[in-house]
Amino acid sequence: MDSTMQSPPLLISSILEYGSTIHADQEVVTCTDTDGSARRMTYAEVGRRSAQLAHALRGLGIEGDNRVATFMWNNAEHLIAYLAVPSMGAVLHALNIRLFPQQLVYITTHAGNEVVIVDNTLAGPFSQLLPHLTTLRHVIVNGPVDDATREALGAPDHIEAVHDFYGLLEGQPESYDWPRDLDENCASSMCYTSGTTGNPKGVAYSHRSNYLHSGAVGMALGVGQGDRLLTVVPLFHANAWGFPYLCMLAGATLVMPDRFLQAEPLARLIEREKVTSGGGVPTIWNDLVRYLDEHRPDVSSVQRLMVGGSACPPALMRAFQDRHDIEIIHGWGMTEMSPVGTLAIPPAGVEEGSDAYWRYRTAQGRLLPGVEARLIGPDGSEQPWDGEAVGELEVRGPWITASYYANGTESEAERDEMAAKFHDGWLRTGDVGALTRDGFLVLTDRAKDVIKSGGEWISSVDLENEIMAHPAVVEASVIGVPDEKWGERPLATVVVAEGAEVSAAELRTFLEGKVAHWQLPERWSFIDEVPKTSVGKFDKKVLRSRFAQGELAVERLD
Ligand code: ADP
Repeated sequence: MDSTMQSPPLLISSILEYGSTIHADQEVVTCTDTDGSARRMTYAEVGRRSAQLAHALRGLGIEGDNRVATFMWNNAEHLIAYLAVPSMGAVLHALNIRLFPQQLVYITTHAGNEVVIVDNTLAGPFSQLLPHLTTLRHVIVNGPVDDATREALGAPDHIEAVHDFYGLLEGQPESYDWPRDLDENCASSMCYTSGTTGNPKGVAYSHRSNYLHSGAVGMALGVGQGDRLLTVVPLFHANAWGFPYLCMLAGATLVMPDRFLQAEPLARLIEREKVTSGGGVPTIWNDLVRYLDEHRPDVSSVQRLMVGGSACPPALMRAFQDRHDIEIIHGWGMTEMSPVGTLAIPPAGVEEGSDAYWRYRTAQGRLLPGVEARLIGPDGSEQPWDGEAVGELEVRGPWITASYYANGTESEAERDEMAAKFHDGWLRTGDVGALTRDGFLVLTDRAKDVIKSGGEWISSVDLENEIMAHPAVVEASVIGVPDEKWGERPLATVVVAEGAEVSAAELRTFLEGKVAHWQLPERWSFIDEVPKTSVGKFDKKVLRSRFAQGELAVERLD
């Protein structure tokens, strides 16, 4: 039997129209200085500006599924692009400004971007890349730039013109007849994984996947009109966790830090804007909590912060909760999953502060409705959801990619590598862990980071979490290194807090009783900083190569 329901396509334009009319007076707030001062724009104006941008892009020849790129911080104009480009039927590609130049050249060309919107504060470095970004025809600059930069942007032969963002919008109509007949399954936007090996791989989100994902994340987090969401997670990384779209749907205020991402300006922005919630990777919150401890700004408006992208050390969660009464919500996901797959919200009835409560809180989280999962053990068999059995996690669902974006230029090896990420219609996450009966995911490692010692697995993440719980330690990253007797053993690299002192032997004693005796690292290296990837995760690839080059001073305990 057919249903009797209407089925208009789920489109980004309906998110834009809903947010800009129903929540017309809500705002996007953009930080403008290190003291946390900010400019604001209502969602009604975001709606008008989005219409103007769409008209302007049509004028530059953007049609069909042409790609429009951004090279921007989190700010109001980036939000406008996030809404306008998909709404008109084109595809938004937010470039990760922190990628290596050759990766940026690769993804811009691979995606076939034709127009790019660049923040003025990034225009200098961008102009150096531009001669290599040969698919681009137009550059739109957000904010004033000096003559030399403008000239450099216009210099490459393939660039037809350089425009000023608001100059281009001026005089354009403030409404747009957004196409209603778009297929909800067509691409709205794309993101590339940061590519720890080989070229970054592209994921193309659909209008439908974004719509459903935003709704599911918003529901799980309980985001509402009173929320003021500090979006530290960049709009160019992992689809910004769906925050821009879910705030427009929920009528929550978006607080955008622009380029002011250090702990001090963030704390001031939080204080001035009475932020209630936010999202970012652990390194951002780690810096913030140290600042809060020392300077004690008034952050009493904050109820909870979402953390994901890499494992959140339990000590960090405790620090926020115990010292600042801020709940940290742990989440797990991937660019390939739009990105959110789980959120760690304990089941109702679990007593706050109990052991069970903390087990739930420190887990990667509970599967969102819509995300199906299974665990595949080392022998290829499906593992039970008993919280013990460990396997590689595979997932499927309406906001999980079924393939990577290919344009026909990929080598056979790349095609094989991309195909190998899928298994009978499931995405292989590359993450290893267990699932509890009630759908909580506990990751023990990334498949490639797990340390194989004498036939047993050691979780690098467990060791890191325990080491980082030591008060003298700021950061710790553990990698597997070759060992004659055991095949591989853990090497703990540690960053000690300024003014503090701790020895390898003391740290090892500290770990005793917290992890199995045979897992205690005998190799230790004190370093100034853990190298980070473009999106702020511990970069173990760099650590491994430093170790291989003999660049790490390693102390060995017997
Ligand atoms: P990239 O591939 O560019 O680093 P992604 O955000 O897509 O960016 O990376 C996804 C991976 O990040 C996951 O497969 C997982 O290994 C890791 N990750 C994300 N969230 C968590 C978390 N809460 N705990 C542990 N690992 C996480």
